[in-house]
Amino acid sequence: MANNTSIQLSPLMNTYARFPLTLAEGKGSYVWDINADKYLDFTSGIAVCNLGHAPEPVKEALENQLKKIWHTSNLYHIPGQKKLAELLVENSCGDRVFFCNSGAEANEAAIKLARRYSQKIKGTDSVEIITFKQSFHGRTMATLSATGQEKIQDGFFPLVPGFQYLPYNDMEALEQLEELAPCAVMLELVQGEGGVIPADEKWVKALSDICTEKGILLMVDEIQTGIGRTGKLFAYEHYGIEPDVISIAKGLGSGFPIGAIIAKEEAARGFEPGSHGSTFGGNPLAVTAGLATLNTILSGNILEEAAKLGDYLHNKLFELKKKLGSIREIRGIGLLIGIVVEGNALDIVNKALQQKTLILTAGPNVIRILPPLTSTKEEINSFIDTMEIVLQSN
Ligand SMILES: *Cc1c(COP(=O)(O)O)cnc(C)c1O
Repeated sequence: MANNTSIQLSPLMNTYARFPLTLAEGKGSYVWDINADKYLDFTSGIAVCNLGHAPEPVKEALENQLKKIWHTSNLYHIPGQKKLAELLVENSCGDRVFFCNSGAEANEAAIKLARRYSQKIKGTDSVEIITFKQSFHGRTMATLSATGQEKIQDGFFPLVPGFQYLPYNDMEALEQLEELAPCAVMLELVQGEGGVIPADEKWVKALSDICTEKGILLMVDEIQTGIGRTGKLFAYEHYGIEPDVISIAKGLGSGFPIGAIIAKEEAARGFEPGSHGSTFGGNPLAVTAGLATLNTILSGNILEEAAKLGDYLHNKLFELKKKLGSIREIRGIGLLIGIVVEGNALDIVNKALQQKTLILTAGPNVIRILPPLTSTKEEINSFIDTMEIVLQSN
């Protein structure tokens, strides 16, 4: 452990309370620290390494692209961008894609698109965007203003105006939508950071119906739920709805930074040349990582296997819940799972770390597990054994 301690006066800004762990290598579901100790990584780098660490097809594609061209700017055509956009459009309800570099930037693009579509295309003065309590949409000024959590906004006032937060999964609150006459609604279908809270199916349907009826854009933040995390490519597919705008990022590049929004043709009219842009967005390396990741996920039966593995893990956790008193609730979809525990979730995460297993929290009493979609039953079994030890000692 000695080598894992951080230097005393760090040149890094004080933005993260880091675990006492320094990772040096990763392959599949495992990572190794600088002492060559092996850990089971059921965080997937926070829903980024959905194909595990260093997946071979992505590595090969990046190695090939490295020899060709890295960056060109968006003043010129980038063939990989078109290919990746085509693949995203073919496999979603959307028609047009804008590339950026992160989740927050994807949501920024969605927010800008909604406002501009409303004002320039529809010619209305409706600019409000409805989001939900406990949501998480990012750390930039607009996306933290969209986020329905005070702790994320604390100290950053004044916020970007134009956001109102309604209670999540609350049927009655939807009645306010008409009165508020927003240009868009933005939501996560499973609130990730906010505690792994899946949206109620009837509520989402009702929300979607109101949006269709009132001409409100329905924007889903699939930054954590997308790219196979829930056992389907996008979480909205579980709900029988068709959003107007989908934000994605995390899992899209297997660790290479890339984000995007996918919009239906009508909503996409909100942007014209000059309305939005990004220097790095969709650069040749990023779209190469995205294409290889998406092709890999779509070509095999990874999605079906992930769904099955999710069921298996849920069942194993339910068995554990029956055995132990310290688990209150298990929730989530596919391989995005929250375990509500008695006591402090961070203590449990620290104990799991001692057992060489990486997991996350999602709030004070929720453990969040995000195994790679490519995990095995053996890895799940070993994870369950660890959780039994860790939760028993809690
Ligand atoms: C992670 C996340 C974001 C922010 O993504 P960054 O890449 O960190 O900017 C936004 N929304 C959701 C739902 C997320 O999980």
